[in-house]
Amino acid sequence: MNVAATWIEAYIGLGSNLNDPLRQIESAAEEIAKLELVEEAALSPLYASQPVGPQDQPDYINGVMRIKTRLTATDLLAQLQQIENRHGRIRMVRWGARTLDLDILLYGDQLINLPDLVVPHPELPNRAFVLYPLADLAPVGLTIPGQGNLASLLAACPAIGLDRITPV
Ligand code: ATP
Ligand code: CA
Ligand code: CA
Repeated sequence: MNVAATWIEAYIGLGSNLNDPLRQIESAAEEIAKLELVEEAALSPLYASQPVGPQDQPDYINGVMRIKTRLTATDLLAQLQQIENRHGRIRMVRWGARTLDLDILLYGDQLINLPDLVVPHPELPNRAFVLYPLADLAPVGLTIPGQGNLASLLAACPAIGLDRITPV
């Protein structure tokens, strides 16, 4: 494992729609907070949202975490995938039901374009279930590299089908 040169502020999207989604999200958040080289983890309020892609699946619970980390982006992805696997994630249909989905939304102000890692997450501007919990944790002036600031992304993405399920 490589250690990043400095502490980086990163944001992670969490989603689940199988096998007690609320518990999946809360326990994944605890596991992320306990990772080596991760500090100051904070979890947003959680939201219920309607599925992207196939509609014949349960609603999702979504949230966002902010962390400080010295994991490189690639190592962070590997750690998140291990947590997904421990939660019994099985990959079947694209965007199909899953026990746990952990996406790197932002990694500092870096633009990353690797074959298996694209950051900022390319769908971020299109997903209310990511933008609204992100806005609960991040300043609206936050710049999303290549995508604009958070306030303008929120203004262009109404919170349709999104319900906050935990108090701020
Ligand atoms: P979406 O990316 O539209 O949210 P998904 O989360 O359902 O779809 P997955 O099946 O979870 O997609 O992941 C497919 C691959 O996406 C992963 O194996 C990973 O290598 C790659 N990937 C690219 N960028 C990222 C990122 N920012 N965070 C997590 N995985 C990413
Ligand atoms: Ca995803
Ligand atoms: Ca994913």
